[in-house]
Formats: sequence, structure tokens, C-alpha cells
Amino acid sequence: MNYRFTFISSLIISLFLFASCADQPEAESTQWALALHGGAGTISQNLPDSVKQQYYDGLEEALRAGEVVLRDGGTALDAVEYVVRNLEDNPLFNAGRGAVFTKEGGHELDAAIMDGSTLGAGALTGLTTVKNPISLARKVMTDSPHILFSGEGAETYADQTDVERVDNDHFHTGRRYQQWERAQEEARAITPEESIQDWIKDTKFGTVGAVAYDADGNLAAATSTGGMTNKQFGRVGDVPIIGSGTFANHIAAISATGWGEQIMRNVSANTIANYMEFKGGSLDEAMDFVLNERLDPGDAGFIAVDNQGNISMKMNTTGMFRASLNSNGDRTVMIWENE
Ligand code: ASP
Repeated sequence: MNYRFTFISSLIISLFLFASCADQPEAESTQWALALHGGAGTISQNLPDSVKQQYYDGLEEALRAGEVVLRDGGTALDAVEYVVRNLEDNPLFNAGRGAVFTKEGGHELDAAIMDGSTLGAGALTGLTTVKNPISLARKVMTDSPHILFSGEGAETYADQTDVERVDNDHFHTGRRYQQWERAQEEARAITPEESIQDWIKDTKFGTVGAVAYDADGNLAAATSTGGMTNKQFGRVGDVPIIGSGTFANHIAAISATGWGEQIMRNVSANTIANYMEFKGGSLDEAMDFVLNERLDPGDAGFIAVDNQGNISMKMNTTGMFRASLNSNGDRTVMIWENE
């Protein structure tokens, strides 16, 4: 009697459980995910609507460049390279055309790319004639036994490839020129009492970057920049330093923007991935740790994606040009905290 009762009640419970599971749509797992940034810093919310719109349009366009790759089953590596190429060609952003001016009045470009599935990496610093530094970085990764080429050596490496070359003037834009003139005046006006650190923080930075997770579960990160306005001879920022401004492994892919010296000091991108791996934290927790416990307010912003396709885009600056999209159709295009 007891046995029959138990049997019938467990049958009823199983049927009930089966019916309620069948009713519930299964949570869709993320097939692919993409995030990009166009620089973080003090971005005034008083930007005229027409200018705001230009930035939103630029971010949307770059997002589409990566979306077509990932939607058709392409690799995370292709997606991040194409997104960054697109942003390098857009004069609104500080990378490729539109790069900031160095102290000497020229342009020196840095870029890095990393494949999370192999830990392959390629990077360049101080490029002066390569139209799309990110594509050369990819060649360094795949075709050379080294990871990072600098200055003249980087240009010589470019000579051995078919990447498109331009005059250094190609990177020149009127807006960056004015910014440079202002930065020079401010630098001259600095009194010894004023901290150089404060001045650096107030200088508008800018960089572009992309991270992606593809349908095969691979992660990749890419970053490209003109660096800091008025930077000194041969200054190298965080972007081409693997683990600082750019990093990808089997856990996460990260691209940074902001004050390069601070980002480097804290080996920031690698710390985010390590926090997840060794502390078991989520991507958001790892980002919060670096932004709040390691860096100071106003220093930086990061975009990242983990090996489940979760995206995180956070900054401790007033704004960061950013956008993201995944296979479930979640789409974001933003500049400030909520806009
Ligand atoms: N991190 C870049 C650099 O220091 C600049 C930026 O991202 O704004 O070169």
C-alpha cells in the first residue's frame, strides 16, 4: 500500500516537473559576443547633439563591422581586427586617422592584438606610416617569431609586408591639431606647484579597442591608439604592452583605455583575467576590483568579454565611447553612465 502510494506520488511529481520544464523556454546560451570602445576620459555631456550623433553613428558602424563576421560564424580574431580597422579609419577617434599629435608635432601609433586560444600576440609601438596598425600587429602575431616591434624596427617590419602605407600627414586632423596647440600652451603654463599628474588627467586621451567571443568559444582582444596628446619622444603607453592595455586568454579578453602609465603600473588587463582565474570572481567583479581597488578615479575604462560570452564595459572616468552586441540581440551604444 505504502509502496504503491510512494510510486504513484513520485510519478505525479515527475510528470509535474516535466510539464513545468517543458513550459519554460530554455535560457539561451550566448553563441558570440562583441564589445568595442573609442576611448575613455573627461567627455562633456554638453556635447552638441549633432556631435553626439556622429559618435553614436561611428560606434554603430564599427559594431556592424564585427557583427557581420561573428554572425556568419567568423573568428573572434577577425572580428576584433575589422572593428579596430574601422575605428582607425574614423577621424573621430584617436587611432589611425585622427591620432593625436606628439610633442614634436607628428603622429606615433601603437597597436596590439591577442588570440586567447593560443596566447599568440602581436604589437607595435611608434609606427609613423602604417595606415592600419592593427593589421600589422596581426601579421607580427602570425608571421614573426616576436611579439613587439618598436620605432624604426616596426617600420622596417612593415616594409616586409603588404600593409598599406601613408604619409604621416594622413593621420593629421584639424581637431587634433587644435587640441595639441592647447595642450602645448597648458604644458608651458604649468607651475611647479601644480602636479603634472593632475595635468595629465585633464588631457583628453582616446584609444580604440575591441574584444570578442566567437561561436567556437575563442576569445580575442585588439587595441590601437595615437597615445597621449603631446607625448614625448618615444613614449610607449599601455596599449602595445601585452597584459597592460591588451590581453586575451582562455578566461577573458580585455582592452583598456585611459591613462597609460597607470594602466601599465597595474598590469591592468592581465589582472582582470587573473582575478577571475585565481579568485573565482565574475567578469564584473574583476573589472570593479581593478577600477576601484587598483586604479584611481578618472584613470581608465575597460571593455571585456569572458568565456561564457558575458560582456562588461566599465570606467572610472566620466565617459567612455562604447558599444556591444551579442547573439541574443542585446545591443548597447553609450558614451556616459546612462546615455
Ligand atoms: N591608453 C592610451 C595611452 O596611454 C591612451 C588612451 O587610451 O586614451 O597611450
